[in-house]
Amino acid sequence: MKEIGHWIDGKMVPGTSGRSSDVLNPATGEVIAKVALATQAELDAAVAAAEKAQPGWAATNPQRRARVMMKFADLINAHMDELAELVSLEHGKVLLDGRGDVQRGLEVIEVCMGAPALMKGEYTGDAGPGIDLYSMRQPLGVVAGITPFNFPAMIPLWKMGPALVAGNAMILKPSERCPSTAMRLAELAQEAGLPDGVLQVVNGDKEAVDAILDNDTIQAVGFVGSTPIAQYIYGRACSNGKRAQCFGGAKNHMIIMPDADMDKAADALVGAGYGAAGERCMAISVAVPVGQGTAEALIERLVPKIEKLKVGPYTGGNDVDFGPVITAQAKERIEGLIDSGVAAGAELVVDGRGLKIQGYENGFYVGPSLFDKVTPEMEIYKQEIFGPVLSVVRQDNYEDALKLIIDNDYGNGTAIFTADGDTARDFAARVNVGMVGINFPIPVPLSYYTFGGWKKSAFGDLNQYGPDALRFYTKTKTVTARWFSGIKDGVALNFKALD
Ligand code: NAD
Repeated sequence: MKEIGHWIDGKMVPGTSGRSSDVLNPATGEVIAKVALATQAELDAAVAAAEKAQPGWAATNPQRRARVMMKFADLINAHMDELAELVSLEHGKVLLDGRGDVQRGLEVIEVCMGAPALMKGEYTGDAGPGIDLYSMRQPLGVVAGITPFNFPAMIPLWKMGPALVAGNAMILKPSERCPSTAMRLAELAQEAGLPDGVLQVVNGDKEAVDAILDNDTIQAVGFVGSTPIAQYIYGRACSNGKRAQCFGGAKNHMIIMPDADMDKAADALVGAGYGAAGERCMAISVAVPVGQGTAEALIERLVPKIEKLKVGPYTGGNDVDFGPVITAQAKERIEGLIDSGVAAGAELVVDGRGLKIQGYENGFYVGPSLFDKVTPEMEIYKQEIFGPVLSVVRQDNYEDALKLIIDNDYGNGTAIFTADGDTARDFAARVNVGMVGINFPIPVPLSYYTFGGWKKSAFGDLNQYGPDALRFYTKTKTVTARWFSGIKDGVALNFKALD
């Protein structure tokens, strides 16, 4: 059985805690590896080694650090197939999605090549007699990234790129369900020239996470995962004096106005609702058709498309649309929520429960499900299902549809399909959600913008990647310098204008 330890000081080391967790192939249900779960002592030792490596890395000039990113990007590209396969093996998503996972992380590394420009400070000459003012951005020191199972390449790369290029050392704690991709990325980063100790991958569960939160050397925590854990981590990290940004779960709505192109809206909903088995924080899980007849026109187009979807293992070739969910418990929970929707009176138009794939009977497959006539009081509406389940919540008019979204606890992504520019513009301006799509169902911003939700989808300031991430992983220092030639002597006791 493959054993996955930790990546410390530039090499793989076994865990010493005696505790481990099974890593599964969700397509078959088989245990494919055991991943070590770090103790507090192991975490603290990894941090101590990172602390030793960090000053040398911070003193490496920014352009050289950026060159490591360039080489890293080249290596990720060269190993694209291998990385995608690792993602798909442990996560279950189809290979095309595995590649997308790597690609969207790679794009953040590409932007990090420009970090020296993004990290430039400001300068004001002659701010007063003989006085110059300037600011600089400095790394924080040792920082941490804690990542979820659903993007085993992309989200670790979103954390590593900005933190490392800014001159920090990073402790990365990937999901214990999909640890191998992050371990391989650490090897590639070393091959790209990252000095040993600057990136430590520590595998683990709550014990390792709590050790990160309580370690005094760690200055900042970037977390991505479910809302309850995001909220917990944000609270504990902040009360321990750390900088924290914690991104949580989602319930993303898509409004379909009566004037929308219904065929395109239905295509978009199928991709955004069922792609990667709905295990995306930007998946659309609620369709909101507006006005008389819109729901019927939409559902009539959705059903045949949904019924055509092929669910299967990632090894099943290009005609498999999506794979299994992550664990048997996830499958059970999703099917339980579908049961609850039926019991609450929602109309189950397509039922994905009880799906068995021939030859893969122990895999964690859930077929695509579609509910109509869902109401906001139902559990299937309130909870993030994180599975291939789309709910239709009908609304009479645009204002009610907008209010439904505004009143929802989550605010990660949302979309509107319409042919009317005024409505789209009004929606983008008034909706209280961080990422908005107009005739675009999964509005994940490109890597030179930034990614982040509102409300219970994110705790803390600043978004992930782009300029915000460099701000998060650096602190500003402002220097006021005076040189005395031509300046009269004198004592000043008061704040006053620099004249
Ligand atoms: P999760 O919250 O269960 O786990 C995330 C990380 O937290 C993992 O590294 C895990 O080991 C750790 N963790 C889990 N339980 C913990 C505990 N009790 N104490 C301390 N640490 C703990 O999330 P997941 O199931 O891996 O990922 C799916 C969730 O992530 C979904 O809710 C999804 O919406 C969300 N997500 C959000 C974004 C975003 O950017 N907003 C992106 C991707 C995924």
